[in-house]
Amino acid sequence: MKALVVGAGIGGLTAALCLLQRGIDVQVLEKASILGEVGAGIQLPPNAMKVFNALGVSDALSARAFTPNAVEARNGEDGRKIFTIPIDSKRWGAPYRTIHRADYIDVLKDELIRQSPNALTLNAEVESFTQSDRQVSVTLSDGTTRSGDILIGADGIKSNVRATLFGAEAPRFTGNVAWRAVVPTASLTAGIRTTSCAWFGRGKHAVTYPLRRGELVNFVGVVEQDEPLSEGWRERGELRQAQADFQGWHPYITDILANIAPENLFRWGLYDRETLPNWTKGRVALLGDAAHPMLPFMAQGAAMAVEDAWVLAEELSRMNEVAAALTAYQTRRKPRADMVVAASRKNIKTFHQRKTLGQIATYGPMWLAGSYAPSIIKRRLDRFYAYDVTGKPS
Ligand SMILES: Cc1cc2nc3c(=O)[nH]c(=O)nc-3n(C[C@H](O)[C@H](O)[C@H](O)COP(=O)(O)OP(=O)(O)OC[C@H]3O[C@@H](n4cnc5c(N)ncnc54)[C@H](O)[C@@H]3O)c2cc1C
Repeated sequence: MKALVVGAGIGGLTAALCLLQRGIDVQVLEKASILGEVGAGIQLPPNAMKVFNALGVSDALSARAFTPNAVEARNGEDGRKIFTIPIDSKRWGAPYRTIHRADYIDVLKDELIRQSPNALTLNAEVESFTQSDRQVSVTLSDGTTRSGDILIGADGIKSNVRATLFGAEAPRFTGNVAWRAVVPTASLTAGIRTTSCAWFGRGKHAVTYPLRRGELVNFVGVVEQDEPLSEGWRERGELRQAQADFQGWHPYITDILANIAPENLFRWGLYDRETLPNWTKGRVALLGDAAHPMLPFMAQGAAMAVEDAWVLAEELSRMNEVAAALTAYQTRRKPRADMVVAASRKNIKTFHQRKTLGQIATYGPMWLAGSYAPSIIKRRLDRFYAYDVTGKPS
C-alpha cells in the first residue's frame, strides 16, 4: 500500500512515521521549498508524547525540549496564583514537554529521512486530486502527477484537500488576536520560570513557558480586538502595541515584552469554524488542522494531529479495504477531536473574565480546588493528558 500525504507539518510528518512503522509506503508532498517552522514554541503534552514513545522519537524530542515542572494559572496583572499543578508524569503516562516548533519539525523530518530517504518531496504543491475505485492521483503545481492507494490531507487550517472534498467554509473571526514571540532567557531580569503558565486578564491572556532546555522563553499574548486580522504567522505588529496591550501587567510579562526583538514579533488572527460532519471520502482522509481546526486555548491542536496519525496508520494496517479503514479512523477520532475543539472554544471565556464578579466566580473555585483539592483539577486534565491512543496501559 502507498500513501500520499499532503503537507509536512507536525501532522503530516507524524502520519508518515506511523505509516512507515506499519510497513506502509509513504510519500509526503510539501509545498514549501524548505522545512522551517515559525520561530515559536509549542506544548507537547503527555498524550502526544505517548505516540512519540511508541515511534521511538521521544528521546530526540526531549533532548531539544524543556520539561516544565507544573502547569499554572495566575492573575495576569498582579501574578497572584490561581492554581499550580505539578506535572504528574506517572499519572499521565508520559512527561509534558515544551519545544521550539523548528526543533519539533526537525526531529520528525530527520527521522523520516533516516527511515526512508526519498519519502519527502519539497516544492511539491498539490493543486488537485482525483480518485477512482483503485487509486488516488494528485497533480502538482508544476503539472506532474503522483499516484497512490490513499491520500491524506494534512495541509493545515486552510486545507485545499478539505475544500475539494467538502467545499469552501466560512471561518468566523473570534475577535481575538494572538501575539507571539520568543526571547532569550538570559535577557530577562527575572530569569527562568520553570512552569507552563497561563496568565488570565480582562479581555486578554498570556501564556509563557521555557523552550530549548531553558535557553528561550515563549510568549503568546491573546487580546480581544474588533478589527479582523489575517490567519497565519506572517502578520507583523508594532511592538509598542503589544506592550500597550499588556501595560500594567505582572513584571515577568512586561519584562518579556521589553526584550522582544521587533523583527521576532508576529500576530495571528484567531478564527473559529464549524466542526466537519465527515473527514473522509473514499480513499481520501483529512488529518490534523485540516480535519479539526481549533482555537489554541487547550494547546492540543498538534497533539490531536499526532493522535490522528497513530489511529489512521493502525486502522489502515489492520483492514484490507481502504475506505472502511478510513471510516474506522474517523469513527475513533472524531468524538475526541470534537470534544477538544469545544473545550478550546470554552476557554476564551474562562481566560478573559472582564468583570470582577466574573473573575471571583470563575477563578475563586479554581483557586480553592488548586489549594485544597488539586485532584479535582488533575481529574479535569486527565481526559486530555492521560489518554493513550497507542492503547498501552499508563
Ligand atoms: C497561537 C497558537 C498556539 C498553539 N499552541 C499549541 C500547543 O501548545 N500545542 C499544540 O498541540 N498545538 C498548538 N497549536 C496548534 C498547532 O499549531 C496546530 O494544530 C498544528 O500545527 C497543526 O499541524 P498540521 O500538521 O495539521 O498543520 P500545519 O502545521 O499547518 O501543516 C500543514 C502543512 O501543509 C503544507 N501545505 C498546505 N497546503 C499544501 C498543498 N496544497 N500542497 C502541499 N503542501 C501543502 C503547509 O506548507 C504546511 O507545511 C497552536 C496554534 C496557535 C495558532
